[in-house]
Amino acid sequence: MRIDKLLAHMGYGTRKEVKSLLKSSNVRVNEETVNSPKTHVDPDKDQVTVYGETVEYREYIYLMMNKPDGLVSATEDAVEETVIEILQPEDLIFHPFPVGRLDKDTEGLLLITNDGQLAHRLTSPKKDIGKTYFATIDGEVTDSDVEAFKQGVKLDDGYVTKPGELEILTSGSESEIELTITEGKYHQVKRMFEAVGKRVTYLKRLSMGTLQLDEDLAPGEYRELSQEEITYLK
Ligand code: URA
Repeated sequence: MRIDKLLAHMGYGTRKEVKSLLKSSNVRVNEETVNSPKTHVDPDKDQVTVYGETVEYREYIYLMMNKPDGLVSATEDAVEETVIEILQPEDLIFHPFPVGRLDKDTEGLLLITNDGQLAHRLTSPKKDIGKTYFATIDGEVTDSDVEAFKQGVKLDDGYVTKPGELEILTSGSESEIELTITEGKYHQVKRMFEAVGKRVTYLKRLSMGTLQLDEDLAPGEYRELSQEEITYLK
């Protein structure tokens, strides 16, 4: 890989800025000063330093956020604040994006990465990746709702959902449930409950495939995935 590409990827500026950084003789590869942006380096083997500090190269970043209420899951939005805007500058250099969407008022597990292949696999309808949500429902959730979700319910646009696994945690005038679905239609959980005449008043995603929300993360907090979490997810 070219040194200018590596340094630009690691946040040392644009290719042009990196070129002048190299000219200033502050970049070394295996102790040798390099000035040419065309210099080839092996990020796994060569030691690259900038102003004497080692550059820890990596291609991908994987972040788990407990998405708070009030942010939109997009990289940019003309009006609303996005989940990307609350990331630290050292994470932004990798140009991460949220994997799939949670509604503005939904909380919980959001994977943010720059690994397009993984993102595609996790969101592809063909892959049947299970996503589990906790929700508070205005109304009494019953066994007939469990059965209806198991069969698939007809949404307002006529689409019949794939089977969903509904577990009632508490039931009364307000109920608490967990629902696992393998699709990600627009507002799917809310619309599934609307289909059985009930309203979701709070929604939080707990897991996506093998990845579970770290309950130590307060809403708005995030952390990197562990190597183990990344391996299982792939
Ligand atoms: N279903 C919804 O209705 N909203 C979400 O944010 C996620 C799933």
